[in-house]
Amino acid sequence: MDGGLLYANAAFARLCGGDEHSLYQSRFQQLLTPGCAIFYETQFAPSLLLRGTLEEISFDLVRPDGQRVPIFVNATICPGDGPTAQYILLGAFGAKQRRLYEAELLRARRESEQVAEVVRRSSDAIIRLSADAVIESWNNGAQQIFGLSPAEASGKNLRTLFAEESHAHLDASIAELKRGIETISEITAIQKSGHLIDVSISMTPHLEAPGILVGFSAIIRDVTTRKRAERALLQSEKLASVGRLASSIAHEINNPLESVTNLLYILQMQVLDSDTKSLVTMAQEELARVSQIATHTLRFHKQSSGRTAVHLQTLFDSVLGLYRARLINSKIETTNDCMGYPELLCYEGELRQILLNLVANAFDAMRTGGKLVLRSRPARLPSGESAIRITVADTGSGMDASTLENLFEPFFSTKGIGGTGLGLWITKDLVAKNGGSIRVRSTTRPGRSGTAITMLFPLM
Ligand code: ADP
Ligand code: MG
Repeated sequence: MDGGLLYANAAFARLCGGDEHSLYQSRFQQLLTPGCAIFYETQFAPSLLLRGTLEEISFDLVRPDGQRVPIFVNATICPGDGPTAQYILLGAFGAKQRRLYEAELLRARRESEQVAEVVRRSSDAIIRLSADAVIESWNNGAQQIFGLSPAEASGKNLRTLFAEESHAHLDASIAELKRGIETISEITAIQKSGHLIDVSISMTPHLEAPGILVGFSAIIRDVTTRKRAERALLQSEKLASVGRLASSIAHEINNPLESVTNLLYILQMQVLDSDTKSLVTMAQEELARVSQIATHTLRFHKQSSGRTAVHLQTLFDSVLGLYRARLINSKIETTNDCMGYPELLCYEGELRQILLNLVANAFDAMRTGGKLVLRSRPARLPSGESAIRITVADTGSGMDASTLENLFEPFFSTKGIGGTGLGLWITKDLVAKNGGSIRVRSTTRPGRSGTAITMLFPLM
C-alpha cells in the first residue's frame, strides 16, 4: 500500500529500462518524474484508497538514463493474505504511440479548424455539393456573392444559382466531374435580387474508391469588375482606331475642301446675276459645314490651343447660323437668350463643338418642327463659386428611360445608321475638359415632350 514493489513482470521492467530485481528495491513513485511522484502521493493513492479502483491515469516514468516514458495506469486494491493485508495491483502500458497519435490528432484538428476558418472568411464562394449538385455547405463569400443565407441556399440545386443560358454549360461541367475531371468556366450567376453577374466557377470532384463521385466542391468568384474593365478596354481600343481613322480622313478631305472653298470664292466674285449669287452663297454655307465636320467632328481628339474669353451671344449665333437653312426648313423656331455674363473663359473650339453636337441632336429630335432655345444664365457652383449655366432645350421627341441611361455611352444611338452615337460621348468629355458638368432632363409625355441639357461652367 505504500508503493513498494512486491512483483513486476518483465514487460514492466522493460518499460522502466532496468531488470526486475533492481526494481524490487524501489517504490513505484520513485520510478516517476518528481511531478508525477507528488501527484501519486497526494492524489492518486488517496483516491485509489477511497474508490478501490482507478483507470487510465497517465504518468511519466524516468529511466536510469533520464529518458521519460509515458504510461497509462489502471489500479485496483486487492485483499491479500499472509503478512500483506492489502496490495495494489497496477497495470501499466506504454503510451508513447498513443501520445504521438494524440498530438497528431490535435495538430490535424487545429489545421482543419484553420482551413475551415479560411473557407468561412473567404470572399470567394466556396461550397460543397452532393453528387447530384445539391448545396450542402455555404460560406460567407457565397452569401455575399449570391445574397442568400446558408439556410436559404442549403438543399437548393446548383443550377438555380445561374442564369438559364448558363445551364447547358453547367450540366456539361458536371458530366466532366463525374468522370473525375476538374472544370473551370465563366458563366452568368443570378443574385437573390435578380441581378445578373459574371462569375468564374471552378469545380473539383470528390471521388471515393473505386472512382465513384460522392460530391464535389465549387469555388465561385465574382468577375464582374474584371469583365467590365475588359469590355472598357476593348471599347477604348475601338475608339482609338475610330479616332485614328477619322483624323486621317479629315486630313485627306481638307485639301480638296480648301480648293472648292477658293473656287467658290472666285465664282462669287465673277457672277453678277443675283439668283446665281445666292445659290453660290448657299453652296459656301454648306461647304462651311463640311469643313466644320472635317475639322471638329472628325478630328475631335485634337487638342485646342488655349482658353479665350468667348462671347456667348456671338457663339450661339454662329452655331445657329450653321444650321439656319435646315432649321428654317424644318420649321424650328430658335431663341438666343443670353443674360448677365456674356463671356466665358474656355476653349472656344471645344465649346462650339459641344453646342454643335447638342443642336444637331435637338434638330434630329424635332423633325416636325418645334422650339430650340440656347440660353446662358449666371449661376453658382455647389461650392458657391460663380459660374455660367448654358442650356440647350428643345421641344422634340424626348427620351425614354433606357435612352437616358445610355446616352453618354460611346456608339449608343437610336438613329440606326443615321447616328454615330459619339456626339454626347464627345460632348461629355469636352465639358469635363473645360471644368464643367452636364445634366440631362427629358420627357416623352405627349404634348409636352422635350429635352433640356444643362451645363454648368465655372467662370474663371
Ligand atoms: P447620335 O446623335 O449619333 O445618335 P449622340 O451621342 O449625339 O449620338 O446621342 C445619343 C442618343 O441620345 C441619340 O441617338 C438619341 O436617342 C438621344 N438623344 C440625344 N439628344 C437628344 C435630344 N435632344 N432629344 C431626343 N433624344 C436625344
Ligand atoms: Mg448626335
